[in-house]
Amino acid sequence: MSPTDREWVVGEIRTLGRKLEPSDLTDARFYRVAETYAKANQESDFAFLAQMGKLVQDGKPLSPGKAKGVLNCLRAQLNKDTREQQEKQEAAGRPKLPLVVQILHGVRNTRELVNPKIHIRHPQMHLRLNIAGANARVPDSINVIKVNGYGNSTWLGRILPEDGEVRVSHKGAVDILQQMNVNPASFLAKMGKLSGHCCYCNLPLTDERSLQAGYGPICAKHYALEWGQV
Ligand SMILES: [Zn+2]
Repeated sequence: MSPTDREWVVGEIRTLGRKLEPSDLTDARFYRVAETYAKANQESDFAFLAQMGKLVQDGKPLSPGKAKGVLNCLRAQLNKDTREQQEKQEAAGRPKLPLVVQILHGVRNTRELVNPKIHIRHPQMHLRLNIAGANARVPDSINVIKVNGYGNSTWLGRILPEDGEVRVSHKGAVDILQQMNVNPASFLAKMGKLSGHCCYCNLPLTDERSLQAGYGPICAKHYALEWGQV
């Protein structure tokens, strides 16, 4: 089966690997595709393309300069589609940890804890989670921060708020977050007990009941957890 005009032109554009010049339009198919594309985009937000579409609609032929302009719009669209496709494929390969998101969002929304934090003092590394503010690049996402000690910390990435897609490349950190996602409250309590620090606010646990729980009485109230029942 021979390619359609559009398939042929798209192939030429991809092979060229750069923006088109009027001198590239050596085949009538370039003009046919430019006219069809312009006509289909008369409502485009891009003024030039909309204008070319109306020109074609009025039965006026496109000059080489105008046709190459239209085809470069098509090229930009193709590049955008390719990028979006790649992003989708990458996203499909990333783990999704919605429960990790929910535990922080849940407490912010219902318990009026303005800036809730979670401290995972895992034997392999100390991670801190908090909710990105309204002015952050991805508002409401969960920041994943590695606490290095001496007041020093490293931002490792974020977890997206909608579906918990993990945008963290540090494999060790992702492993820990995946363990946490199975049952966040129980995982955090375990980390608190192991480290002797509250798994939410990071304060040292001094009371025997807090050491039993893995978190202190104030955080227990905030997160609606049992505390002090033996
Ligand atoms: Zn606490």
